[in-house]
Amino acid sequence: MKKLRKETLCVQAGYEPKNGEPRIVPIIQGSTFKYDSSEEMGKLFDMEKSGYFYSRIQNPTCDNVAAKICALEGGSAAILTSSGQTATFFSIFNICGCGDHVIVSSMIYGGTYNLFHMTMGRMGVEFTFLDPDCSEEELDAAFRPNTKAVFGESVSNPALVVLDIEKFAKAAHKHGVPLIVDNSFPTPLNCRPFEWGADIVVHSTSKYMDGHDSTIGGCVIDSGNFNWEKHADKYPSLTTPDPSYHGVVYTKHFGQEGAYISKMTAQIMRDLGAVQSPMNAYILNLGLESLAVRIERHCSNAMKVANFMKDHDKISWVNYPGLEDNKYSKLVKKYMPDGTCGVISFGVKGGRKGAEEFMRHLNVSMICTHAADAHSIILHPASSTHRQLNDEELVASGVTPDLIRICVGIENVNDIIEDIDQALAYI
Ligand SMILES: *Cc1c(COP(=O)(O)O)cnc(C)c1O
Repeated sequence: MKKLRKETLCVQAGYEPKNGEPRIVPIIQGSTFKYDSSEEMGKLFDMEKSGYFYSRIQNPTCDNVAAKICALEGGSAAILTSSGQTATFFSIFNICGCGDHVIVSSMIYGGTYNLFHMTMGRMGVEFTFLDPDCSEEELDAAFRPNTKAVFGESVSNPALVVLDIEKFAKAAHKHGVPLIVDNSFPTPLNCRPFEWGADIVVHSTSKYMDGHDSTIGGCVIDSGNFNWEKHADKYPSLTTPDPSYHGVVYTKHFGQEGAYISKMTAQIMRDLGAVQSPMNAYILNLGLESLAVRIERHCSNAMKVANFMKDHDKISWVNYPGLEDNKYSKLVKKYMPDGTCGVISFGVKGGRKGAEEFMRHLNVSMICTHAADAHSIILHPASSTHRQLNDEELVASGVTPDLIRICVGIENVNDIIEDIDQALAYI
């Protein structure tokens, strides 16, 4: 499969039917799997043989779909999770516990911020949030002896900040810790973090990967490149016997390429059970089959919409990383030369009132909090998700009262533009 191009991997990777078997990934909805003898089953529990016994731990449908995403990212192993939030949580919790520290780009999804700052904070994991545009020196200075990972988003939701992946990877590796990148917005079609030094990638598959607003899900992918044994003192849960699994040492038993995901499966997923259902994995796979075609259209549509907005007298500013004059244009050319994503943020004249008027008159773009869907969706945070904040508080949180986010869909772009144009006339 390695030699095939990304468009082909979208359709074909992860599942190879044998003679007479279904062409598409079958939905193995079962909770459990039958064995001829206790001895046979015992071999699975001893990890002498690989196989399925209970779908809370592993399921063939989910594994097929995870393998497709793994191939797209160019990783060594992957696991599906119940949501993007779970993927992020597992990616950190697999190697961090109480008393550990993680460095995080401050430009991340709000849900991820809450997960880290509030929920994982209560578990005793400490986080330092750092401006991703910081200097190498500032980044370097944020490391502590108990730092176990660095985390950032390749293209951040909703600020659309592009991460300098190499800068972050270099700093992480200098201090002997892995870089974890949330790659949900550009997807592996547009950006492959492993090629720039990231060690682990997470996805909210609820976004472009599913792409049809049909199923919540997540995925964690390991590059297999991080040498846990070399930094064994930092990662004892991977490099010393696991008493909850017959004393298995994950790096010894599964090697550098398999240790991280095997441990996540055998221990974290076993204990927390945040699995993706086989039915949802099947739906996700349908989305993945057309991902390459959709992403191309999302990006070309968004570029046209952004260019239209740039010249409109009712629009005061446009933030789209694909635009030539964008602050991150240089990083875009380096890390995602084929395109970024379909998400644009912009401000309308007339502030909060102007934005509310504009939103009232849209017919093609739908008002939703979701992002990255075939259908164009649009959100005015100041009057919806952020409505409890006053204007000063909004500005402080990086969401100005006039800010609107549109996730440009794959409809005919002229319909999207004409709809925006007529709604702007009401301001
Ligand atoms: C939506 C999102 C998440 C959370 O994913 P869910 O599937 O909603 O749990 C994480 N990261 C980014 C960048 C997102 O956009």
